[in-house]
Amino acid sequence: MKTFYWRVDAFQPDDRIMDRAGFIIRQGGLVAFPTETVYGLGADALNAAAVERIFTAKGRPADNPLIVHVRSIEQVYSLVAALPDRALKLARAFWPGPLTMVLPRSREVPDAVTAGLDTVAVRMPAHRVALALINAAGTPIAAPSANASGRPSPTTAEHVRQDLDGRIEAVIDAGPAPVGVESTVLDLTTAVPVILRPGGVTRRRLMELIGNVAVHPEKTEGPPRSPGMKYRHYAPGAPVILVEGASAALVRNKMRELAAGFAGRGMKVVILASSESAGYFRDYRCVTYGRHAEPATVAAGLYDALRRCDELAPDVIVAEGVEPGGMGTAVADRLRRAASEIIKVTR
Ligand code: AMP
Ligand code: MG
Repeated sequence: MKTFYWRVDAFQPDDRIMDRAGFIIRQGGLVAFPTETVYGLGADALNAAAVERIFTAKGRPADNPLIVHVRSIEQVYSLVAALPDRALKLARAFWPGPLTMVLPRSREVPDAVTAGLDTVAVRMPAHRVALALINAAGTPIAAPSANASGRPSPTTAEHVRQDLDGRIEAVIDAGPAPVGVESTVLDLTTAVPVILRPGGVTRRRLMELIGNVAVHPEKTEGPPRSPGMKYRHYAPGAPVILVEGASAALVRNKMRELAAGFAGRGMKVVILASSESAGYFRDYRCVTYGRHAEPATVAAGLYDALRRCDELAPDVIVAEGVEPGGMGTAVADRLRRAASEIIKVTR
């Protein structure tokens, strides 16, 4: 299949292009499109055959459910069995935006979307192109990240091309996704809502609005609440040794020690670090992911940095950790998921 690439303005997408893309979705095709978090791979959420093609194109395990994207709160009513008050409150406060809500599903939603769960994940993206696409398609759009399963999520159309060229009908390119990490996934089916995946909306902001919010522990017994989180995610080809610690100096020293050890054994080492730390690794290939002092820049740059690490074909990647807190929480979570080993330095 030949994949079409359409370049549009992020704030004023061309109506004719959006109509063509919407038509593809209505016909059961797949269109990759920008959202504020990452690029999504969209299909008509109410067409089971179309949704199944997403799993084939990505190589995604069938038990990993998809997020359904809407352009209005009205659209949510057809997807859910009930819309509790606190969900409505959250939608009014954070939509459009990087908050996904897990709610009891309606019968309209195909099993392929929810992986057979009795819940459905919904969100309204804060991106003109995404909203225009849902509008043009005239249907909610099921969309996971537009990467091949197991690869870092795509934050540019070029990343999508690398993973899915020839496997999908079209890619809408509107430049880099501004946030850079996926949405916060919040389960609203329990008495105390639970964050299943940290993302663009922080726990503190949620708690300011609806009171106590729990965080899903990294390791649990029994079946995972968010099936997607059990897979090794966002992982480059080479092992990632992640170094976290009390101060930047301690972390850098440990990273240098590790890198020297690997290099001494003849391994090709790539350093993944903040722009502030890059100067300490002049004698290595160093890929930077953004400014440590501003976690939002790390969020925006992390997935591209992981892909650039891959392109250098290292034997090992030594990575500088990010402290949780605010946007740092989502970034630290993704770095830990990419890591094969986490080393904590305290002194
Ligand atoms: P992606 O869009 O590729 O970032 O993946 C969607 C994420 O949302 C995965 O981690 C899924 O497991 C999670 N998700 C989607 N639907 C549900 C649901 N009904 N319940 C819990 N988690 C969900
Ligand atoms: Mg994904």
